[in-house]
Amino acid sequence: MDSRFFDSGFASLEAYVPGEQPKDRKYIKLNTNESPFPPSPAVVEAINGDAASLLRLYSDPTSSDVKGAIAEFYGIDTAKVFVTNGSDEGLNFLFMAFSEKGTAFADITYGFYSVFADLYHKDTTIVPLREDFSINIDDYDGIDKTIFIANPNAPTGMILGLDVIENLIARNPDRLIVVDEAYVDFGGESAVALTEKYDNVAVVQTFSKSRSLAGARLGFVIANPAIIAGLEKIKYSTNPYNVNRLTALAGKLSMNDREYFVKTRNTIIENRTWTMNELKARGFEMTDSKTNFIFVRHPGLSGETYFLALRQRGILVRHFTGKRICEYNRITVGSREEMEALIAVTDEILREAGVNHD
Ligand SMILES: *Cc1c(COP(=O)(O)O)cnc(C)c1O
Repeated sequence: MDSRFFDSGFASLEAYVPGEQPKDRKYIKLNTNESPFPPSPAVVEAINGDAASLLRLYSDPTSSDVKGAIAEFYGIDTAKVFVTNGSDEGLNFLFMAFSEKGTAFADITYGFYSVFADLYHKDTTIVPLREDFSINIDDYDGIDKTIFIANPNAPTGMILGLDVIENLIARNPDRLIVVDEAYVDFGGESAVALTEKYDNVAVVQTFSKSRSLAGARLGFVIANPAIIAGLEKIKYSTNPYNVNRLTALAGKLSMNDREYFVKTRNTIIENRTWTMNELKARGFEMTDSKTNFIFVRHPGLSGETYFLALRQRGILVRHFTGKRICEYNRITVGSREEMEALIAVTDEILREAGVNHD
């Protein structure tokens, strides 16, 4: 029951439900797309050093150091960078303040979009993916709203080429296109370059997945300076110190350690290929993932059965209940050891279910 003091406008809001973080036993966690690797050693060293002693001071409200590192990484001006408390905050602000005519996004995509749209009472158009889960940008023609596209998409892992994203931006000059690139580092091509050419695109990225900083909460938006100024206005009207000191430091050092970033990212991509091949050999079907997760189903095993059987054996994956995807599970790509454990346990489950795979 809501408190009688709770605004009635939020009564029907259905909050986002994050992937479970259970504490009843130790699981191999393949359910929230975290990295199996620690952050860059430079981050660990700095945070374990004297960085904590400065916590008595407010963080830099301009986040200039971390902005500078992001701008340098992408070879752009710092005036085009906005840093956020997780990329969810960037998405929050874009729904709040850049979606006056409403919002449009796919039926199968990041679950937070519909929550934000509800939170701000946005008029929303849901655009179904094709039967094969691909996005048809023609379906967005004539929708006069802010368009949110996760590229690669979640939980399907599928990607649109940069030429297609550019086409979407170019043919909708009076609509803002938000490209959520939470997973772009695992095999996609970023739309950041397009922000130099178009003023109707905002790229959202995160340190949570490819930079092993999910718990630090750091994301950013890259767009033309006028959009960034609007985002700053919202930030200074809600939470001026949105990025804490330790996180800003971690973000800067992580961005600067390109070698570690490339090495860990490449390992995830190798582990993804290995796991996809092993699962295919066992009769699983899957989308073509360009992310740090695999979206799979098995013709001989229901999605829920596989999910529960893995859970019982100590492996957590993400199961969805939506009509089109209820036979699927989303499995985070972890370390090679974790993936080997997944395959061994999967063999047990298939054997017990009497599913023949050779
Ligand atoms: C994980 C994720 C985010 C948000 O991540 P943060 O931890 O808030 O930075 C945003 N979009 C998609 C598609 C994601 O999967």
